[in-house]
Amino acid sequence: MALTEVEQLRDLLQAFWQGRELPCPRHLGTKMKGTHVQTTYADHVYLECPRGKETYTLPQRPRQQEFNHQQSEGLVENINRGDNILCYRCQSKLEKRQEEDATSGRSRFTFTCVRCLSWGSWEGRPQDASMALHSAAVNAKDFI
Ligand SMILES: [Zn+2]
Ligand SMILES: [Zn+2]
Repeated sequence: MALTEVEQLRDLLQAFWQGRELPCPRHLGTKMKGTHVQTTYADHVYLECPRGKETYTLPQRPRQQEFNHQQSEGLVENINRGDNILCYRCQSKLEKRQEEDATSGRSRFTFTCVRCLSWGSWEGRPQDASMALHSAAVNAKDFI
């Protein structure tokens, strides 16, 4: 399954923060230039292709971050309950990708925020996702 535009931007932004090359999605073999622009109200990363006219302005306050395992598992649990899933960083909508292995019943979930492009992934049988187990463990620790 091809990457969505949001997923492409997520990967580009991740490459930017890691100091890697920024291949233009539209021009094979062309590298874009990225700049982190800090302003009082709207920090962003600006990507510019030297060949085409396309530019990308990616809001970065908050800055992109990978959700931890427990946060990603919590999103799967929300889906199981039929609840909405929102970005932990900026409360925007999350794009969900689910790749299911029919044989094992396991799925790989990837979540990407449409605004700050934070993301997280979780793999397992969806029905096994349970924050309840985690909070039980945390509570048990409180009593020691
Ligand atoms: Zn281009
Ligand atoms: Zn976000």
